[in-house]
Formats: sequence, structure tokens, C-alpha cells
Amino acid sequence: MSTQPVGNGRHRVVVIGSGFGGLFGTKHLKRADVDVTLISKTTTHLFQPLLYQVATGILSVGEIAPATRLVLRKQKNARVLLGEVTEIDLAQRTVASVLLGEKTVTPYDSLILATGAQQSYFGNDHFATFAPGMKTIDDALELRGRILGSFEQAEVTQTQEERDRLLSFVVVGAGPTGVELAGQIAELADRTLEGTFHNIDPRDARVILVEGAGAVLGPMGPKLGGKAQRRLESMGVEIQLNALVTDVDAHGVTVKDADGTSRRIESACKVWSAGVQASPLGKMVADQSDGTEVDRAGRVVVEPDLTVKGHPNVFVVGDLMSVPGVPGQAQGAIQGATYAAKQIRAELAGKQTAQERRPFSYFNKGSMATISRFSAVCQVGKLEFGGFIAWLAWLGLHLYYLVGYRSRITTIIQWFVTFLGRTRGQMAATEQWIFARLALEAVYGDSEEGEEFVRGAAGRRPPAPSPGTPAVTAEAGLPGKPGGDRKVG
Ligand SMILES: Cc1cc2nc3c(=O)[nH]c(=O)nc-3n(C[C@H](O)[C@H](O)[C@H](O)COP(=O)(O)OP(=O)(O)OC[C@H]3O[C@@H](n4cnc5c(N)ncnc54)[C@H](O)[C@@H]3O)c2cc1C
Repeated sequence: MSTQPVGNGRHRVVVIGSGFGGLFGTKHLKRADVDVTLISKTTTHLFQPLLYQVATGILSVGEIAPATRLVLRKQKNARVLLGEVTEIDLAQRTVASVLLGEKTVTPYDSLILATGAQQSYFGNDHFATFAPGMKTIDDALELRGRILGSFEQAEVTQTQEERDRLLSFVVVGAGPTGVELAGQIAELADRTLEGTFHNIDPRDARVILVEGAGAVLGPMGPKLGGKAQRRLESMGVEIQLNALVTDVDAHGVTVKDADGTSRRIESACKVWSAGVQASPLGKMVADQSDGTEVDRAGRVVVEPDLTVKGHPNVFVVGDLMSVPGVPGQAQGAIQGATYAAKQIRAELAGKQTAQERRPFSYFNKGSMATISRFSAVCQVGKLEFGGFIAWLAWLGLHLYYLVGYRSRITTIIQWFVTFLGRTRGQMAATEQWIFARLALEAVYGDSEEGEEFVRGAAGRRPPAPSPGTPAVTAEAGLPGKPGGDRKVG
């Protein structure tokens, strides 16, 4: 175990997470007389809103996920520490993080916790084996492999029944992510892949968007939800509303309709975009506070100044905070983190005390979702509009918030190629992207060998799986044929 140096007597701020909250919180402390340590379990700042474009071959990982270390290289008062935070001790004011078995303890005077949320399967975590979510770079690359792999398998399969299964794509959840993914899979099949296979016509692919509630893009209201639904349907996407997914397996999904009947959709490639669960670190700090609670999704019900009770130096921001009227969107994270940084700066400069803080107030800049090339829906205050103008607004806004000039320029080029032409620049996919997650889970599992592998990963070979370690077969995920014999791990 190592302990980070206590420093030069300056105020120490620890920021946990390198998403929108973590990065903007750190950047807004640039001119403050503090030492900032940003700890994150990922090496990059991930622009999650464009993950679906990585999954569907439009953008590369580098364009939406610059290395945090490089982004912050000119900020002299900030250092970046890679590691998964496993303990936060509010009494001792320390944060413990682990990187491949190496534990580091970092002391703080102020803490900004911005560890966001993960995919939620509403208690059915085993669904994840067959229907990955869309939260990380790994998710997006795995999904790209699964989507393209399904077309490849459909090309060589012998039976029509199996071909139909392989060409059926189920997206669970009709929020912005589900809508964007469904639209892009449909465009991929109809425009990009059209004419590139011999035995199949990719345009025969079915894209099915399954939603438990009664509307597409429910929170955006009936006008924009209706627009999005009509546009998707005109592209051939099948929309099934009031349809609850009750089971997911290798071969498809089981759906329960509003009238209580259950039915099957046979599908090789399934994607889950139906719910989120906050990072467990939220509950960890809430439990140590003087009575702060977490809501059903695990988000911290923070005080008006985004802190936890009894600890005015501990801010919780972004998707991890629960503040009435603040959506789990990038703007909520950016504004919350900026607010926290401003309080720290003002108090160090002697301009206010913690007791004098004005409550956090959220400025709603609106929300938008893109459906296909040249088509999006947009809501700004009472103004609701869709179509090409909304798509241009979406384009401009996403470019503005992408980090780094290089990313912006290459993204414009990729969009130009994709939206005006028929090709896509990032159509690579490998077997490892598809199977590595399951193989790693099998190796790490609960087994002692898994633990040993993690401890020794820096220099030793992974252990051979023991007889008790579950083998990952294609049947466990996709693109595997029923009874397939591929073994990984
Ligand atoms: C697919 C998708 C599409 C989206 N589209 C939009 C959109 O169009 N518009 C919009 O406004 N919002 C969108 N969002 C939501 C938006 O991305 C989030 O609201 C925003 O990222 C929240 O920021 P955050 O900093 O709270 O969390 P995140 O961005 O999730 O960052 C969390 C950070 O914490 C790190 N972390 C987590 N646990 C630990 C740990 N134990 N130790 C160390 N580090 C840890 C992670 O590695 C990550 O760096 C989308 C989200 C997704 C997933």
C-alpha cells in the first residue's frame, strides 16, 4: 500500500471520476490555490452521448474518449491517478483506490464525488450476459462486434430460421440511447451494408425497439416522442410499446404485453438501454454522513449545496446526485461540478463560508436526441422541434462539448463520410471484443485463480481455468449458434 504525499500545505481536493462531473470539476479549479488529485478507474474522459456511434461504426474510440492525462497536462495543480476507488473514509478524510492489487490512500480536504451510474437490469443481472448495456468503451466495442458478427453469421448459416434470428436486433428501452441505437442499426443495414453480402440482403434485418412504458422518449413529451416514433417507423424500425422484457437468453427475449400474455422474439443480438443504477460509492458516503439517504436508484439525496449531511467538504455531483428537477444528463453533471469547484474557490479566497453558500440551481438548457442522419428532436424550454434543424443543433452542440480540437476535426470528417456518403470509417470488429468480457468474468469470477490473476497481472501469466471455472461458449453470448462449440477462456 502506498500513501500519496501530504503535499505542500495547500488545500487538497480529491475528485473521483473522469466523466463530465470529474473533468469539469477539476478544470474549474485550475486557477485555485489547491492541489487536485483526480482518481478514476478509466484512463479516459468518455463522452457517453456518442457511444452509440462507436458501436455502429461511425466514430473511433479516440474521438470520444481522450486520455484524461493529456487533457489535463497543462493544468499544473492537477494530477491524475488511475485506480478503482474502493473505500472513502469521511472521518479520516481519505480515499483508497486499487490498481491491479496495488492500493493507494489519498488524503483530502475537499472531495468531489462524480462516479456516475452503471447499467441497471432491475435485479436481473444475468441478462447482461446476453444483452450488454451501453455505458463504457468496452460495451460499445462489444456491441459493434455483436452487430457486425450477426450479419457475418447470417451470411454463412444454413437455415432460414437461423438467418431470421441472426438478422433480428432487439434494443430494450426507448429512451434517447435506445432510439439512437435503433436508428443507427437500421441505417447501417440499409445504407452501409447494402450490397456487401452475397447470401443475405442486410436490408432484410429487423430492428425491434421494445419499451415497457407507453411512449418513445417518454420524458420529452408526446409531441417529440411521436415525431421520433414516426421517423423510426418510416425507417422500418418495429416499435413495441407497453412490452416488458421478462427474460433474456442466448436465443432471444421473452416479452410480456400489457394484456399479460408472454411471447418470444428470437434474436441473436440484444442491447440493454433500459435503466441505470448509481455507483455504490454514493451509498458508502451517505452511510457515513449524519443521515443523508440514497434513492431507489442509489443516487445520493444531497443537501441544497450538493454535500452530504455533516460534511460540507464532501460534494456529490452528476449522475450520482439526486436533486429534484435535475436530469441524469451531461448538463446536470457539468453544472453540479462547476458549482462545487466555485464553492471551494470562494471559501479558500475568504469570500464566503460553507454556511453562506447559495443553494445549487440548475439551468435547464434543454434536451435532444438524434434519430437518423438529418433527423433529430430537440426541446429547449417550451420550444419543441424536430427534423433537419434539430439535427444541425444536435451536431453543433455535440461538437462543442467534445474535448479537444483534434477530436472535433476528425469527428467532423467521420460524420461527413457517414452522413453524406454510404460508408463508415470504423467497421473493424474482433472476436475478442465480443467474447473478452465473458471470458474475463469467467476468469475473475469468485475463483481464487481469478484473484491471483489480478494480483499478478503486472508480470505473470494468467492461470489456466480450473475445472470449476465456467467456460465461456458462444452460446453464452453472441454471435453463437445454439449448440455452438466455440470455447473461450
Ligand atoms: C449511452 C449514453 C448516452 C447518453 N446520451 C446523453 C445525451 O445525449 N445528452 C446528455 O446530456 N446526456 C447523455 N447521457 C448521460 C450523460 O452521459 C451522463 O449524465 C454524464 O456522463 C454523467 O456524468 P458523471 O460525471 O456524473 O458520470 P460519468 O460520465 O458516468 O463518469 C463517471 C466516472 O467515474 C468513474 N468511476 C466510476 N466508479 C469509479 C470508482 N469506483 N473508482 C474510480 N472511478 C470510478 C468512471 O470511470 C467515470 O470516469 C448519456 C449516457 C449514456 C450512457
